[in-house]
Amino acid sequence: MSSYKIDTKCVQSGYEPANGEPRVLPIVQSTTYKYSDVDHVGDLFDLKADGHMYSRISNPTLACVEAKIADMEGGVGAMLVSSGQSASLLSILNITSAGQNFISMSSIYGGTINLFAVTLQRLGIEVRFVTPDMTDEEIEAKIDENTRLFFGETVANPALVVFDIERYANLAHKHGIPLIVDNTFATPVLCRPFEHGADIVVHSTTKYMDGHATVVGGVIVDSGKFDWEGSDKYPEMNEPDESYHGVIYTKQFGNAMAYITKVRVQLLRDLGCTMAALPAFILNLGLETLAVRMEKHCSNALAVAKYLQNHPKIDWVSYPSLPGDSQYELAQKYLPDGCCGVISFGVKGGREASVRLMDSLKLAAIVVHVADARTSALHPASATHRQLTDEQLIAAGVRPELVRFSVGIENPADIIADLEQALEQV
Ligand SMILES: *Cc1c(COP(=O)(O)O)cnc(C)c1O
Repeated sequence: MSSYKIDTKCVQSGYEPANGEPRVLPIVQSTTYKYSDVDHVGDLFDLKADGHMYSRISNPTLACVEAKIADMEGGVGAMLVSSGQSASLLSILNITSAGQNFISMSSIYGGTINLFAVTLQRLGIEVRFVTPDMTDEEIEAKIDENTRLFFGETVANPALVVFDIERYANLAHKHGIPLIVDNTFATPVLCRPFEHGADIVVHSTTKYMDGHATVVGGVIVDSGKFDWEGSDKYPEMNEPDESYHGVIYTKQFGNAMAYITKVRVQLLRDLGCTMAALPAFILNLGLETLAVRMEKHCSNALAVAKYLQNHPKIDWVSYPSLPGDSQYELAQKYLPDGCCGVISFGVKGGREASVRLMDSLKLAAIVVHVADARTSALHPASATHRQLTDEQLIAAGVRPELVRFSVGIENPADIIADLEQALEQV
């Protein structure tokens, strides 16, 4: 980990050109690599030599972006994948098998709820949802000898519930399991979950990290801190991997690098949800300006939230950095510089009024996306969260009238003027 501040890391980490090499990260558009002798290839396959074998597993362009993100989060290693969904999936499959279970906070991204409650269920991995209002005792009652991890989202999309990382990290560690945090909305600019006890971080890089709505991607980051070696729950870390003629990940790579090495050489190899070099290059351009953009997203969002809070036609506003918000105390603890650019609100008159407002917006576009430079709006109950039952909607913190408003980096006066004219139509 470098000792630079986060905004310096955004620009400088990961790629260090040698004398005469390109100043800008090169796009290595090659699936394959050339070697001078057969033995070297053998050593690569035995994981005894460092280097690239095949771009399904690793690529020099991706390696630089991975090193940058690992440095930004304060981790020992990272692995890019083709989407945020793949990042969540692989982060769990890496340490969980059929017949086992895991704990997840219920206020998380709708796509993650489907993945956990339907698809992983079909693979024999059971999710046990918990809510922020549950006591430690109530949560602990859901943990048994087959529980392998705890999952939560720093700032839940779209419920905007702040995850009490320290509390749940302590709870997870008390039961000898790691805490995995989806840090998509906060980004490492606003919150670094490892500093609060999380063990693994995942991101949908599709959102702020790219920041321009150009490439779908995901990343898994490992703190290197979880003690796999000292646990009997994770034989896949401590016993020979038959698919790698007997490699023991904690032995060959050390406890700190075992998780992130295994997820690459075993799961990325087998499942192939690889990011390509060009998307990685584009993602890196986004990362270079991430710190600047997050500051603007946060100040704009706070201005919009304050405007809406005082508007007579607005029923409620939710934005964790807004004084008086139910999440304000947690946001001050984990996200003191701002919590993201996304706010949610309901218009008086319920679902219909919220939809009418959205249809009247001009600058803000209706898109099934969130967290990029352009202001946009979404009605989750009829879009991203359409597949959820009413019960799941409420558990995910998504009211039927909720408008998810993703505040961009335009001039805040223009964003507010757009809301003003749209509210006049309601
Ligand atoms: C969008 C999103 C995902 C899924 O990421 P994709 O890149 O769309 O696959 C996961 N978690 C959160 C918090 C998200 O916002």
